[in-house]
Amino acid sequence: MKLTKKAAAAMLAMAMMASLAACGGSAEETTAATTTAAAAETEAEAEEAVTEAETEAETEGEATEAAGGVIVMGTNAEFEPWEYHDGDAIVGIDPEIAQAIADKLGMELQIEDMAFDAIIPSVVSGKCDFAMAGMTVTEERKVSVDFTDTYAESSLVLLVQADNTEITGPDSLADHKVGAQTGTTGDLTATELVGDGNVERYNSFFEAVQSLKQGKIDAVLLDSAPAKVFLSQNEDLKQAGDAMNKEEYAIAVQKGNTELLDQINGAIDELQADGTIDEIMNKYIPAE
Ligand code: GLN
Repeated sequence: MKLTKKAAAAMLAMAMMASLAACGGSAEETTAATTTAAAAETEAEAEEAVTEAETEAETEGEATEAAGGVIVMGTNAEFEPWEYHDGDAIVGIDPEIAQAIADKLGMELQIEDMAFDAIIPSVVSGKCDFAMAGMTVTEERKVSVDFTDTYAESSLVLLVQADNTEITGPDSLADHKVGAQTGTTGDLTATELVGDGNVERYNSFFEAVQSLKQGKIDAVLLDSAPAKVFLSQNEDLKQAGDAMNKEEYAIAVQKGNTELLDQINGAIDELQADGTIDEIMNKYIPAE
């Protein structure tokens, strides 16, 4: 990314803090990194801070992507058709749109796969430049990150075992065990519907669905397109009731990074106008 030296110094310091925290670095070390960037008042000092930070980051074995030609996307590749593994590759709607955006920005796309609830923290800390993970725009998330314009719509649906006659939709969920991937809107909505004690949280919706098939839980609450994929692969499951709500997906960037936000919004605009986003979407979600 193209950044001013001061911004680069600050971001590097944040990345270092994150890596220090991850490596169990001491509080003193973390403070030192913050002070270096904060005290970098003059251009020369800022430059020094960048060099110092770069050297230290290299020593730590951390890449300094943000200052180079690489743009890093944080995602959770367990969410077909939005992002999933195909052999060693991470494929799906989001990686393809992200690649098209990176091409427009003239940057090399790098994808970091992580747990869904680690994605927003990774953007906040600067470990990733942006998050793209079939991620719904919510008021709560807006407190930590900024969202681009939306690029897709979704809704939540309930999956149950095919022979379930008790659960016919959200109204008949009370006292039933509902599974979801941790930190997702499925998790949050399930918690509202059945209470914290009746929600089972999993690292992925795949695990939640396995648990449903084994009868350990009564339903899974998840986004419509992944639900369709699970239904197509599991004859012993069905959807209970209609889609529940409307959600919108967008890309998240670090709060206040208007430069990147504007660049991505510009790219989304163009990719919507020339039909690229529709084309990618239709490839993975065939019309009924
Ligand atoms: N759209 C849901 C959310 O943002 C689920 C996303 C996901 O599991 N990747 O919470």
